[in-house]
Order: sequence, then structure tokens, then C-alpha cells
Amino acid sequence: MHRILIVDDSPVAALQLEHCLAKSGHTNMAVVDDARKALQILADTCPSPDVSPGGDTPRPPQDCRQFDLVLMDINMPELDGIAATRLMKEHPHLQDIPVILISASDEKDVLEDGFNAGAIDFITKPINLMELRARVKAALRLKEETDRRKARERELEALKDKFELLSNLDGLTGIANRRRFDKAFDAEWLRARREQRPISLLMIDIDHFKKYNDTYGHLQGDVCLRAVAKAVAGSMHRPADLAARFGGEEFVALLPNTDLPGARAIAQQVQQLVEELELEHKSSEVSPLVTVSVGGACALPGQDMDSDALIHAADTALYAAKHAGRNRIVMHGEHAAEGCLRPQ
Ligand code: GH3
Ligand code: MG
Ligand code: MG
Repeated sequence: MHRILIVDDSPVAALQLEHCLAKSGHTNMAVVDDARKALQILADTCPSPDVSPGGDTPRPPQDCRQFDLVLMDINMPELDGIAATRLMKEHPHLQDIPVILISASDEKDVLEDGFNAGAIDFITKPINLMELRARVKAALRLKEETDRRKARERELEALKDKFELLSNLDGLTGIANRRRFDKAFDAEWLRARREQRPISLLMIDIDHFKKYNDTYGHLQGDVCLRAVAKAVAGSMHRPADLAARFGGEEFVALLPNTDLPGARAIAQQVQQLVEELELEHKSSEVSPLVTVSVGGACALPGQDMDSDALIHAADTALYAAKHAGRNRIVMHGEHAAEGCLRPQ
């Protein structure tokens, strides 16, 4: 059932409108004699967006049923109908409610102002029942279409958010995927360069994982990957730290504003959390349990430096850790007292 608000300072005119609408089958109506009161009622019917500091538009309570149409007299003493229409169209929760202006026949010249203010139609007094019926029907149909379109837009928006979220997550482990890492790494690299702060990367690779799969099967391999992913993610502490699956059984930790000793400390924690998983790995040549090797590197980005250099350095360090016997941490440049990569 459509809800209609009649705004007219003349009780006789309002009553006549109400009567005509009732004849057309409308029963859900409210009448108000002042445009300010009307705006108040309309705004109170649904919460205004600024009641929520988080920016989320609150969902109206169940009994909050918005009006579907406003019939607005133009000539009213306090706030006239055109100004009130303009205010409605500026209000994010009221702008979709159609307004039909009711004009006395000598007010025809102000109708252009009315349309400019956002009214969709007008009716001239004295009211003609057939004309009122036709215009109200058309306005309500338009409102229904707008409501449907808005609902579809909201659904699409929600789907987009969900898709965006999913497309940034690795399907198997639930942590960030390579795509998300690439985006975050680019952004953090630029920030580190701008703020002249160090940025570190850890490459983490499960030792003898091929043998693990061969021994326990691929499904158990997936279980192991999930557990290790959780351990890597559990070692991130600051909001900007990011654990991601880099590919296969390799993970990466992005550590903005972290120097080489700081990055080593995180690497140690990753190793410890993986060890605490106590996942049996009887075919590993380095331990009876699942272990990881970690390669780390740090950079103080400069103008001419390519961020790939940091990935390459961490990868080289990981290779060195594997080569030195696995289940260990190698930090690039740690012993050369060179520390972070710097511009030449
Ligand atoms: P290393 O100690 O030198 O790292 O040896 P490794 O066996 O771990 O390394 P290698 O690169 O030879 O093998 C990686 C294995 O990881 C092979 C591949 O089947 C497995 N793997 C990659 N992605 C997945 C996955 O999503 N699930 C499972 N179960 N295994 C995977
Ligand atoms: Mg491996
Ligand atoms: Mg590997």
C-alpha cells in the first residue's frame, strides 16, 4: 500500500485532496499544514545518514516505512512548497521521493522554479479528480521503478565488495593471494620511498614439501599448507604487515617500516610457530617435523630503485638458506654489514 503525504496549509484544500485520493483507493495518507513539519516528518520516518559515524547508512527499522509520494502546495506562509521540494532533493534519504506540486491557477509562472527544484509534476487547483488520479499513478509507478533500481544497485554493490574481497584471497589457505600482495607491495614501496623508511620482505618456503605430498598425499599436503599459512599470518603484528601466499608452497611476508633485525625477529617467530604445529614429516631430511626455510631482505627505497630488487634479494637469501641445509633463516646482507639495500 502506497504512503502519501499531503502538505497544504489550507485544511479545506488538504481535506479535498485526501478525499479525492481516498476515492482512488488510497488509504495510507498523512496530512500536514506546514512544509517544515513535513520535512521533519519525512526525515524522522527514516534515519538520516549522519546518525552513523562509521559512514554506513543504517538500515531503517521495520516500522520505518518511507513515504512514496508527496503532494505539496506551493503557496504556504512559512516555507513555500518549492523551497521545501529543493530541501527534500538535497536530503540523501528523501531525494527519491517524488513531489507533485499543487498550484493555484495564477501561480503557473512559478512552475519552472518548481521543476528546477526537483518536482516531477504539478496539479492545478481546483483539483480535477481524473487528472489527480493519472498524475499520482504515474508518480507512484516512477517511485516503484526507482526503488527497484536502487535495490538492484545495492545488490550489485554488495556483490562487488564480496567479489573484491574474494579475488584478493587465496582460495586454499584463506590468506592474501599474490594479487593482493602485489598491490600492497607497490603501495608500501612508494610509501617507504616517500617517507624514507625501511621496508622488508620474507620469503618462506616449506622444506621438502614434494616429499611431504609423496608421503602423505596431496590432500594432507593441502592441510599442511593451510596450517603453515596460519602460522605465517599469525606472525604479523602491525596493521600494515601482510602475509600472502606467493605461489605453491611458498609464502611472503611484507613488513613495512621494518629493518633487517626486525625482519629477522619475525622470521624467527614464523619458524617457531611452524615448529609448534608439530606436523609430522618423516620423509624430510632435515627434521621429523614440517619446517620452513626463510630468506629475508630489507630496502631503503630510492628514486632509481626497482622494487623487484627487494624480491630478488629475499629470493636469493631463501635459496642460500635451502643450500645451507634448510630449516634456517638467511637475511640478505646481514653479515656484510650492508643491511638494507640502498640506492647506488
Ligand atoms: P625444498 O625444500 O627445496 O623447497 O623442496 P620442495 O620439495 O619443498 O620444493 P619443490 O619446489 O621441489 O616442490 C614443491 C612442491 O609443492 C611440489 C608441489 O606439488 C607442491 N605444491 C605446490 N602447490 C601445492 C598445493 O596447492 N597443494 C599441495 N598439496 N601441494 C602443492
Ligand atoms: Mg619447498
Ligand atoms: Mg618452493
